[in-house]
Amino acid sequence: MIKAVRGTRDLLPPDTALWNFVEAAVRDVFRAYNFQEIRTPIFESTELFSRSVGEETDIVSKEMYTWEDRGRAESDKGQALTLRPENTAGVVRAYIEHKLWERGLNKLYYIGPQFRRERPQKGRYRQFYQIGAEVIGSPSSGSQRPLRDAEVLDMLRTLLEHLGIKNWNLEINSLGDPEDRANFNEAIRTALGPVAAGMCVDCQRRAVTNPLRVFDCKVPADQPIIERLPRMVLSDDARTHFENVRAILDSIDLPYKVNHRLVRGLDYYTRTAFEFTDGALGAQNAILGGGRYDGLSEALGGPEAPGIGFAIGEDRLVLALQQERSAVSSAPDAYVAPVGEGMNREGLKLARELREKGLVVELGDRSSKLKKLLEIASKLGARYALIVGENEVEADTFALKNLETGEQVSVPRNELAQRIQTLKK
Ligand code: AMP
Repeated sequence: MIKAVRGTRDLLPPDTALWNFVEAAVRDVFRAYNFQEIRTPIFESTELFSRSVGEETDIVSKEMYTWEDRGRAESDKGQALTLRPENTAGVVRAYIEHKLWERGLNKLYYIGPQFRRERPQKGRYRQFYQIGAEVIGSPSSGSQRPLRDAEVLDMLRTLLEHLGIKNWNLEINSLGDPEDRANFNEAIRTALGPVAAGMCVDCQRRAVTNPLRVFDCKVPADQPIIERLPRMVLSDDARTHFENVRAILDSIDLPYKVNHRLVRGLDYYTRTAFEFTDGALGAQNAILGGGRYDGLSEALGGPEAPGIGFAIGEDRLVLALQQERSAVSSAPDAYVAPVGEGMNREGLKLARELREKGLVVELGDRSSKLKKLLEIASKLGARYALIVGENEVEADTFALKNLETGEQVSVPRNELAQRIQTLKK
């Protein structure tokens, strides 16, 4: 038997109803904040990720699905391609390629699969889905102002509340300006010098290549060493920015905790970094992360374009929802049961009328007995069955049967949709 590849999975009904519910809420909430959708390709040139995410990150150094193109055209041959491990790089590439700065401030969002060769476990997959948004603009569009950071965090709170997720926690930090980060990296390198040999292999490597990344380490034995490492010293500008962001969050009653150890997995972050976790999730409890990336456009050959964005792990958001709220119903509102010669066509006609009025309708086939049809309807979770027989069609009045109580009433055709809608509530 051929099975789905390790770390990938099928999303099946009824779970997909929850995914649709999440995506519909995302589109509504993001729209209210004036974001618009962008769709970028699922694969890009490998160089895009090594230059933006960073060579020394776990993602680029060991988790990317990369291959060499073997196209016939000379121009394709040997090109290194990669399944996108995240979507910010693709969005910024598109921003540069299509000169989107000419449109002023860009507020873009995406929903789609990402790929990382991680060790699979609950809440961690090799193909997973992210919902993300990016605010990118020129310095004159105000995209680097603290208000933008706060607006993005406010939008995330609105979304989580809208979805009914209650156990969220927000942690924020400032990663400073590039010079602060470089100085901090050196300070960490120095501090690690005498102790790195006693740490895990990854940290020993990081201590040489990219010391800041030791904060990603999850090995328990390394944590006491990591806790004693120095803190980042922020430049005046970066500190003022962070203080302003915090003041705005306080003024809109958005609760957060400052976590000085929050560095985030990608190299391109500057200033504000943040993460939302969910208490109900267990080990993989980060539902989303994001931050500011003021130098990313320039690093990819574009103009100065400060930006801030985030990526929500949709798989984890759905898991959190499954823990916190009852399932979204995927049952039909009504089941049309045709009985007798020629009634399939009449049933289809009636189903069509009801569907046009916004009801979810399933249609039975008259080759089964009515009893059997009603059993199927109950199994599907339909609340009502509509019996379509010759007499009913003639009288233009149909038997509406409540499948939970067994109660049955006669309802004229033109009142059916309304009746089912009202009874549904
Ligand atoms: P990152 O791009 O690493 O900042 O991740 C942003 C969010 O995506 C995380 O907070 C997770 O919710 C989610 N995520 C990252 N990697 C995975 C994965 N392998 N499987 C499922 N969700 C993931």
